[in-house]
Amino acid sequence: MAPVALAPSPITPTVDFDRDGVQHGFLRLPYSRDDSAWGSVMIPLTVVRNGSGPTALLTGANHGDEYEGAVALFDLAQTLTADRVAGRVIIVPAMNYPAFQAGTRTSPIDKGNLNRSFPGRPDGTVTQKIADYFTRELLPLTDLVMDIHSGGRTLDFVPFAAAHILPDKDQEARCFAAVAAFAAPFSMRMLEIDAVGMYDTTAEELGKTFVTTELGGGGTGRAETIAIAKRGVRNVLRHAGILTDGQSPDRQAEASRWLDMPSGDCFRFAEDSGLIEACVDLGQPVRAGDLLARIHPIGRTGLAPAEYRAALDGILAARHFPGLVKAGDCIAVVGTVES
Ligand SMILES: [Zn+2]
Repeated sequence: MAPVALAPSPITPTVDFDRDGVQHGFLRLPYSRDDSAWGSVMIPLTVVRNGSGPTALLTGANHGDEYEGAVALFDLAQTLTADRVAGRVIIVPAMNYPAFQAGTRTSPIDKGNLNRSFPGRPDGTVTQKIADYFTRELLPLTDLVMDIHSGGRTLDFVPFAAAHILPDKDQEARCFAAVAAFAAPFSMRMLEIDAVGMYDTTAEELGKTFVTTELGGGGTGRAETIAIAKRGVRNVLRHAGILTDGQSPDRQAEASRWLDMPSGDCFRFAEDSGLIEACVDLGQPVRAGDLLARIHPIGRTGLAPAEYRAALDGILAARHFPGLVKAGDCIAVVGTVES
């Protein structure tokens, strides 16, 4: 039986992706609701094109409570001029725009986690329609994909750019070369807890050069991590030959420390609920068996805390951010240091 053809995307761009120059516009997604019968979600985007050449697709706020990417990309969209571009840059500072407006990881409209909604559906929820538009309309235009994440309200990370181990080693090498060009303080060979439904996976399966990041967290951006995002975005565009501003990539690249996540032993998940006591801070070295955190029961006094220890040597690369944890929360990630 032949596969059923998907309906066209309901999203209409207000820009012409093939026109030279700078265009600021929207992806308009029809969303009929109580306060606007024929209303739309208006996702801001900028296209900067100058002749033929490779295309970069840059996204922030795939999760709505992650801010470094949004700040860096609203800034880039406002400052990038066509005479500094060879090819095309498509900038979407807040990919899951309803979630970004609400300051939440998932969409308030449908509870959709955009980065678990790929490849999406043209006839699905608002979040699935956004995913589908990226899968079928924007990714095919694109050579280089940069999706800037941070930890959001519940996680905090050492700042790193990352790519994944891929079956196509040429593609993997392109991805890690872009990670190195980003020049974050750390560069990660990233293992996902669950890669199904991720934008990353969809872009990688289409053969794209894909770079992601985790640049901090706690539901805010810091001056340091925002500066890393701004610098990293421009570095990767220079590396790809798309940004031609005559500057060489920032030298921080030489200082970046490479981390690996060789197995699921990197992750520590809470088996208890309660009050977390951090025993190691982000970026600090740990050895297998070292205490990472305690979780104190909070229902009564006089009970011993549960202890959570590192399973391998490395540094603390991520931690749970709020002071209270629930069973099942990821409380720590140890990245191993590459020599
Ligand atoms: Zn994220």
